[in-house]
Amino acid sequence: MLTAQDIINVMNSPTDAEVALIKKAYDFAQEAHKDQKRFTGEPYFVHLTETAKNLADLGMNGTMIAAGLLHDSIEDVGVTPQTIEKEFGKEILFLVEGVTKLGTVKYRGTTQHNESMRKLFVAMSQDLRVLIIKLADRLHNMRTLHHVPEKKQKRIAGETLEIYAPLAYRFGMRKLSRQLEDLAFPFVLPEEYKKIQQFTKKKQSEIEDRLKKFYKSVRKVLAKEDIISVQTDYRVKSLYSLHKKILKKKGELEKIYDIIALRIIVNDVGDCYKVLGIIHGTWRPLPGRIKDYIAFPKPNGYRSIHTTIFTGDGSIVEVQIKTKEMHEQAEFGIASHMKYKDGSGKKTHWIQELVQQENTSYLSKNFITSLKSDFLKERIFVFTPKGDVIDLPIDSSPIDFAYSVHSDLGDHISGAHVNGKFSSLDRKLKNGDIVVVITKASSHPTQKWLDFCKTTMAKRHIRSILDKISKK
Ligand code: MN
Repeated sequence: MLTAQDIINVMNSPTDAEVALIKKAYDFAQEAHKDQKRFTGEPYFVHLTETAKNLADLGMNGTMIAAGLLHDSIEDVGVTPQTIEKEFGKEILFLVEGVTKLGTVKYRGTTQHNESMRKLFVAMSQDLRVLIIKLADRLHNMRTLHHVPEKKQKRIAGETLEIYAPLAYRFGMRKLSRQLEDLAFPFVLPEEYKKIQQFTKKKQSEIEDRLKKFYKSVRKVLAKEDIISVQTDYRVKSLYSLHKKILKKKGELEKIYDIIALRIIVNDVGDCYKVLGIIHGTWRPLPGRIKDYIAFPKPNGYRSIHTTIFTGDGSIVEVQIKTKEMHEQAEFGIASHMKYKDGSGKKTHWIQELVQQENTSYLSKNFITSLKSDFLKERIFVFTPKGDVIDLPIDSSPIDFAYSVHSDLGDHISGAHVNGKFSSLDRKLKNGDIVVVITKASSHPTQKWLDFCKTTMAKRHIRSILDKISKK
């Protein structure tokens, strides 16, 4: 079992206060969970130390690691919120309660729901630190999934593949996302998993040999051009992403060039383009495969230059060129931002940090904008009486809600009950409202509805009906 010191050792220069906090949380959790066992038969506390270590691996601070140690204490062993607050303060209580609440959202297993579920998770978390703890928790649960009863395995692995891995990816934690996917893949799609495994086994050593040779030549060429302090390595595509790619390319494995990619990490952006020039000057690039994600970052903030070249010995290799910063950002995403502390040692709210850092080169502007607008500012989550989640733009009306459920409902809405009270059609709905639509056969859209509708879907339906009426 990991000791408190094992976890602390992973951290990058922790303060005395952080060390003391982690030790205290460690002892507290060990005592609280002392009678509890996991499916594996080992003490439950092992799960908490592993979750805490995952958080330390992600570069999280003492508060986050302590919250990781305590994350199951309210739900599983009945420690009261008051006790957590008294012993560890408001911030850690907030994180622990956030993780507990996330646990109550149930995965329903239909694709249509997953996007809403994902958004709901984020909305519920408010503070993405909660989500990061949940991801660290899930990573350990996935690593021990083979001990869990079979029926539960499928559900947990499905939820991981459909919700947690995409969420990690969405927030730029690519490494974690890959780990979760590859752990879940064999449980969710055992047949496909076997196929991919066989394929890569056959291919991988062959490709790896060629890549090693190519890797040497690249280093030589770059050294000649005075590009120093480069770090070159190669990464093997994860089995699950290979599977997704095969689906996309309709099974043409030979067309997948990036099973193994050569990564060149340099000091600054200028060197990235210089290296691209050198590579293209030495080896012939495949047309149409050059992607400049530095000039045009991916929506999740990923930056790098990708090109695919003929190595001259009959093989094709993808080369990725990026700076160290971009590389860290690509592997750890959101988590890499949270390593930051201000001078006083006080941790500022990291979302505010992100917003303030809007113009840094570190994160693409798109990413921050979409983070703010999609998840935190411009969307609300409203419920049907059955508990289904409807995701709407902020300030949406009951009319938007009705059209999101069904066009017939929108076309004949006459009023609504919001949280059990009658409400007019121009009401601005709020996060968490439960809405019941009241319809009348004689009701139909009017010009006025357009003034308080927010969704394009509602507006489109209303306009088309107004058109029909005016043509009569
Ligand atoms: Mn847990």
